[in-house]
Amino acid sequence: MPRNRSGRRVIQSAIDIKRWQQQPPTVIEARPARCPPCGAASCPLAGAIQGHGKRERQVWGPVSPDQPPEAIAVTARRRYHCVDCGAMLLVVPRCLLGRRVYSAAAISFALALWGVALATAAEVRQRVGPARILGPGSLF
Ligand SMILES: [Zn+2]
Repeated sequence: MPRNRSGRRVIQSAIDIKRWQQQPPTVIEARPARCPPCGAASCPLAGAIQGHGKRERQVWGPVSPDQPPEAIAVTARRRYHCVDCGAMLLVVPRCLLGRRVYSAAAISFALALWGVALATAAEVRQRVGPARILGPGSLF
């Protein structure tokens, strides 16, 4: 389970990004069964894990390999707070990674283009990255 310096933990839901966008899960549907750090059981009414709001997050990359890359706003990333240990838990759609703007599928696709299809960096950027304005530090 990845953990960052702020003490937040990212939990991937079984729901993929497309379904998450079409029908965001309710607080009860997305609630983890237990707290990963301390193992406290979750219960909708009197459990140790309480809903703590939702946040919006961008996800970059193509929806499928034959589609152009885009930046998608996932509007309902669920947050939970464990009363027992104080951990902040973030439940995200499957394929969303902590501290990464690209989805896991987009990263895998880029690595396949680079390593298997032997595409150049510019070709990989064009197929995977939605940004059209590049900074001065970029090579292509
Ligand atoms: Zn806990």
